[in-house]
Amino acid sequence: QSQELLQVRVDYHAALLALQEQGTRMVCTGKMHTDRICRFDYLCYCTEAEEFIFFHSNASVMLPNLGPRRFQPALLDLSSVEDHNTQYFNFMELPAAALKFMPKPVFVPDVTLILNRFNPDNLMHIFHDDLLPIFYTMSQYSDLDNEARLVFMEGWGEGPHFDLYRLLSSKQPLLKEQLRNFGKLLCFTKSYVGLSKMTTWYQYGFVQPQGAKANILVSGNEIRQFASFIMEKLNITREESPENDEYIVVFSRSINRLILNEAELILALAQEFQMKAITVSLEEHSLAEIIRVISGASVLVSMHGAQLITSLFLPRGAAMVELFPYAVNPEHYTPYRTLASLPGMDLHYVAWRNTIEENSVAFPDRPWEQGGIVHLDAEEQERILKSKEVPRHLCCRNPEWLFRIYQDTKVDIQSLLEVMRQTLKSKPSPKKVRPTSTVHPGRVREPKCQTSVQAANEARMTVSWQIPWNLKYLKVRDVKYEVWIQEQGENTYMPYILPHQNYTFSENIKPFTTYLVWVRCIFNKNLLGPFADVLMCKT
Ligand code: UDP
Repeated sequence: QSQELLQVRVDYHAALLALQEQGTRMVCTGKMHTDRICRFDYLCYCTEAEEFIFFHSNASVMLPNLGPRRFQPALLDLSSVEDHNTQYFNFMELPAAALKFMPKPVFVPDVTLILNRFNPDNLMHIFHDDLLPIFYTMSQYSDLDNEARLVFMEGWGEGPHFDLYRLLSSKQPLLKEQLRNFGKLLCFTKSYVGLSKMTTWYQYGFVQPQGAKANILVSGNEIRQFASFIMEKLNITREESPENDEYIVVFSRSINRLILNEAELILALAQEFQMKAITVSLEEHSLAEIIRVISGASVLVSMHGAQLITSLFLPRGAAMVELFPYAVNPEHYTPYRTLASLPGMDLHYVAWRNTIEENSVAFPDRPWEQGGIVHLDAEEQERILKSKEVPRHLCCRNPEWLFRIYQDTKVDIQSLLEVMRQTLKSKPSPKKVRPTSTVHPGRVREPKCQTSVQAANEARMTVSWQIPWNLKYLKVRDVKYEVWIQEQGENTYMPYILPHQNYTFSENIKPFTTYLVWVRCIFNKNLLGPFADVLMCKT
């Protein structure tokens, strides 16, 4: 039956002929395995060997053709996590002639995106590593449309939030284990393999302690466009609540890392901010319901944990308040802070940390993966219990980290309200925030300089330019120009910020000297334009 599903739209004999004669064709983007996505015609997968197969024929193409470097360490990363050695993709090669001796291929007619989900049990990983990268990889290739087929090769089951993956295309995503239901040899008519890493902002600490990625390439705009897509698919319309109907959401965990005085916290927050305060949890509410509530909230308060990824649905101007258990330094665990701080997310971020050991309940007797430490030798247990802060560490099984992060916490209300007051000077409110412009200035045009020598040790240099071409179509509050002047041969320069389109420099300008002059435009203090071509000015 599943075979029929796939066969129905393929002219089987034409496809088989094409595979036999053309073989597999691959063309990729990316110089390195870490930034590579490949497009294939007739990439096959042998479900018995659990290997992808590239069939060579006279018409095959393999670009890049890396030879054995294809295995050093791999052709590409199959998940969005950079260079993780459990997430590599490669294929095995065969001559197309071998098809005669192999099981009859079953063709997959859909344009397919083949990838690994990284950790589909964890909501943060689901959004950050899978959904956002899949969404934007699909945007990159126009034939990965709503009819595209997703194939997840990491080998896990559906996981608790499979419905989220279903939102990305109209076709049911396939899991690795399901592929064998279709046959022994599956051939994807057209497929893309790999994921864009353009949207990820966090590295989990496999080679260096976890933290924000070094070169973040995504802004709040792309995150919010994705959030809108998800909300639309879930039939959620953002609640435009009236001014006096603002509310605070406390996202609680019911299984571990508990807030022990949740009721007291709710009351205190409501009183302090004069707003309603409500609790949600993944145990009591559907994710769609939670997203609906969060999309209208003014403040989201939660213990550090995967549930905080839902802050990507907060409205602009809202605040995220992240609570950390005793001995956990908020500076060292910043996936949600980094998200909130992306330019254009327009969220306020507050971290609070329990500094009172008596307000913490630890669970040394639990299994190690829930933070138990009784399996460690006595000395090590002693050290951990005495430690006031988890030292920086690598992922993923550091027992001291797990011990501390799985503590329950009685939140000291006064100290929490104090940090919230400090950071959220005015009442956080989605109403007041408009997205700020991100239009950058063009180059200034027709830069010129005129020089004159006044005396043996006195010279002047007048630099002038025209406004950037795009400025005449924009309403910009604050337009300024930056001029850099460097004496030829020197390695320092003098920068000036100027309000008008010309200026005469006389200080520090020497006669009979050559100056290099750069000019650029700046909108609203921080939107920098490009420099115009350098001017050579001889006095
Ligand atoms: N989770 C939850 N309630 C709990 C504990 C965990 O809903 O009381 C969810 C959590 O949001 C995440 C998954 O279970 O999606 C795994 O949680 P874990 O503590 O392993 O990861 P963390 O939240 O620290 O990233």
